[in-house]
Amino acid sequence: MLARFLVWALFLLVVWRAIRGLLAGIVQGVSTPPPSPRVPPEKGELMARDPVCGTFVLPSRAVSLTDRTGTHHFCSDTCRQKYGSR
Ligand SMILES: [Zn+2]
Repeated sequence: MLARFLVWALFLLVVWRAIRGLLAGIVQGVSTPPPSPRVPPEKGELMARDPVCGTFVLPSRAVSLTDRTGTHHFCSDTCRQKYGSR
């Protein structure tokens, strides 16, 4: 009699745990927002070096100047002017 009761208790405990785990999984799935795709800015864009002060800048955000030797990127208009006045 006691053995049967214990088996039942154990069985109910296992079932209860399974249900609770299932419910927790459902609640977690609902409350957790879907992962938004993270898009890193300027993906794969190479940094360019300011030839005047040596600062590394992003070409898309830098002040650029194209002369006979190629395109140069500067951190600011001041550096561009310094480079041009040399
Ligand atoms: Zn600079």
